[in-house]
Amino acid sequence: MDYLNKRCVRDMDVKGKAVFLRCDFNVPLDREGNITDTRRIDESLKTIKYLIDNDCKIVLCSHLGRPKEGYTGKLSMMPVAKYLTEILGREVKLTKDIGGEDTKRIVSELKKGEVCLLENVRFADGEKTNDPELAKRLASLADIYVNDAFGACHRAHASTCGIADYLPSCYGFLIEKEISNMCRILKNPKRPFVSILGGAKISDKIGVVNSLLDKVDVLIIGGGMSYTFANALGYSVGTSICESDKLDLAKDMMAKAKEKGVKFLLPLDIRVAKEYDPDSENKIVDFDKIPEGWMGLDIGPKTEKAFSEAIKDAGTVVWNGPMGVSEWDNFASGTLAVAKAIASSGAISIIGGGDSAAAVYKLGYADKMTHISTGGGASLRLLEGKPLPALEALENN
Ligand code: ADP
Ligand code: MG
Repeated sequence: MDYLNKRCVRDMDVKGKAVFLRCDFNVPLDREGNITDTRRIDESLKTIKYLIDNDCKIVLCSHLGRPKEGYTGKLSMMPVAKYLTEILGREVKLTKDIGGEDTKRIVSELKKGEVCLLENVRFADGEKTNDPELAKRLASLADIYVNDAFGACHRAHASTCGIADYLPSCYGFLIEKEISNMCRILKNPKRPFVSILGGAKISDKIGVVNSLLDKVDVLIIGGGMSYTFANALGYSVGTSICESDKLDLAKDMMAKAKEKGVKFLLPLDIRVAKEYDPDSENKIVDFDKIPEGWMGLDIGPKTEKAFSEAIKDAGTVVWNGPMGVSEWDNFASGTLAVAKAIASSGAISIIGGGDSAAAVYKLGYADKMTHISTGGGASLRLLEGKPLPALEALENN
């Protein structure tokens, strides 16, 4: 599953055309509605600027959060429109509706090189159900459809999939970067190929564990998902996060690793806490002896050392999911150790997953990584070797 046969915006005649550009502006907002991390918008600028330079009339579209029913003031794209206006140095008008009268008026008034932004596309009925009527209405706003919303490519929605049925289509430069990095590296990884998986739940990532076991030399498991493996091995896990309905799956994965000759590393020690609280009393215990009433919230120092040792000689590293509750300083040490080990290994490195990426940026190791994906779910699906519907929908080159 590489998508290198699909068409890039570079290969299309966009000069002076009206372009519908689907981006992933799904940025985190604070209580006051300020954007706390603009990275996803910044990563879209290359394609936007290319279209401006080509005198296009640009209709931007994205979702933001998960509005329950229709218009939700808190999830308006207004902060994104403001930020784009600032960073592009030209007004980016926000439409009141999604392809309705207000949109039509604003789009019809666009001059070459001008940009507007649709209101949150998930306010529209039919976006998530990929309704052809909505897809058609969106398509009627432009001559060409460009998708650069990598973070939304695993969703078959009207603005990511359906619209491609009604317009000539291609992907933008962010998607090009994502797929060329991820697909190229996964196709022919420099060995040893080491993968590190963590995060909260094994159920989110079981498909990835399964498919990575066919590819990697070493699989390292940390974070919340490691306790399901501990439980499957018969260890006590205290009050740690554990999916007791996934024990058989965990056993199957360990058996598969053995059969494939994949080195399978679980934690040796754990930092446990009394409560799920950033300031909870905490201590280090052995992985197989988590005391009753305590929960594992990070890997321990012996584990940090063992994992770092395994990462040191890697040719390729794929990392998805923090080693503990890395948002809290008391439980971020394991994630920091892994980030450090990857950064100093010299390996080709891919970081996928929103929380792992956030940790790498926060800890200051971003510029040491080969590629940090902007899409959590989408990058997991690529790792899994499963199709991304929004990319399938695009025309071949
Ligand atoms: P990513 O976004 O990188 O794919 P996930 O979303 O799967 O990662 O997991 C990140 C979340 O997992 C974080 O919110 C983190 O607090 C949580 N987490 C990690 N380890 C533990 C743990 N031991 N117990 C509870 N939550 C954990
Ligand atoms: Mg996450």
